[in-house]
Amino acid sequence: MALNQTNGGMNGQEVQKEALETSLFHNLKPSPEPLAYTPEIARATAPLYEKVAGVIPKIEWAAYAPTIYAINELKKARGAVILGHSYMTPEIYHCVSDFTGDSLMLARKAAEADADIIVQAGVHFMAETSKILCPDKTVLIPDLRAGCSLAESITGADVRMLKKRYPGVPVVTYVNTSADVKAECDICCTSSNAVQVVESLNAPRVILLPDEFLAKNVATMTDVEIISWKGRCEVHEKFTVEDITELRDANPGIVVLAHPECPPDVMAASDFAGSTSDMSNYVKQHQPESAVLITECSMSDNVAVENPQVDFIRPCNLCPHMKRITLDNILHSLQTMTFEVTIEPEIAARARVAVQRMIDLPASTVAGPKFRINQPAADVTLVA
Ligand code: SF4
Repeated sequence: MALNQTNGGMNGQEVQKEALETSLFHNLKPSPEPLAYTPEIARATAPLYEKVAGVIPKIEWAAYAPTIYAINELKKARGAVILGHSYMTPEIYHCVSDFTGDSLMLARKAAEADADIIVQAGVHFMAETSKILCPDKTVLIPDLRAGCSLAESITGADVRMLKKRYPGVPVVTYVNTSADVKAECDICCTSSNAVQVVESLNAPRVILLPDEFLAKNVATMTDVEIISWKGRCEVHEKFTVEDITELRDANPGIVVLAHPECPPDVMAASDFAGSTSDMSNYVKQHQPESAVLITECSMSDNVAVENPQVDFIRPCNLCPHMKRITLDNILHSLQTMTFEVTIEPEIAARARVAVQRMIDLPASTVAGPKFRINQPAADVTLVA
């Protein structure tokens, strides 16, 4: 049926919009042809470009803008929201995401979102966490291969083995784990509340899984004896003290901020250590002249957009899993409603208890001191 037979008095712009939505819904495969950068799309996306002009060259915008426009139109038409992790590239983080932040922030936003469809612009364990907290919503991940070296380092069977080996010792798992692993633990934690979660259990010994370096960094901050696992983030484990020395030599006065998934000697050589949100808040509050974030590359780009007067030096350790998510596959995900994340209900219910316990911790419990730098190394029992 021709559009002009059904447009019921719509003006030209409305007809064009309806045609675009119709083609977005029905084009169930990513278009082999790049979408066109029309004057209308240039106008509609101009305010978004203004936001990211400091980190995306003008010449690249023509390649991004049509897909950004198509995603934002289709998202509205579907009633979907996009959750963008801090390690997404700026065109995803700033131009199509409805909620942004670290994995805990995104999980909270997923639970509060007034939308039936959630597209997770992040990795698989994050999409599972959204599904755990929102069992009645459709949660989509644009690429099923978006995994995580930490999450893949441990299984539910490994946790059951540890519980047998250390009977009665409470188990804390980092949110960077699968639903199977969360289902076996007592409570979850993130890098911003790990110390407080461990101490909230009032136990002399705690099993803290699966990140060896996070466990060692937490151990410097508490008297609780820590048992952990030899899991590592393949991005953060690569940073070394020599990297920091070189950065300081080349950039006198630079402020170095490190993520607690980094080795303890890297944390000790930094000026500040904290989670993704803690680092971002530090930059906002202190506005250093120049800074380096010892973490995934895209985080610096995203924080730079919000702090244009800070000069960021960007040593690049990309997360190959996070980089699986692109504008093209986000659009494809919305067009085809793929790939839907499902979790066996019994596992999801047990995992929800662990995630919810963390979310329900009183604000006063999680507001304590985070990581301090220059701490002497502490012993951790590692099992693998
Ligand atoms: S940055 Fe590290 S922890 Fe985060 S998804 Fe990549 S591998 Fe996993």
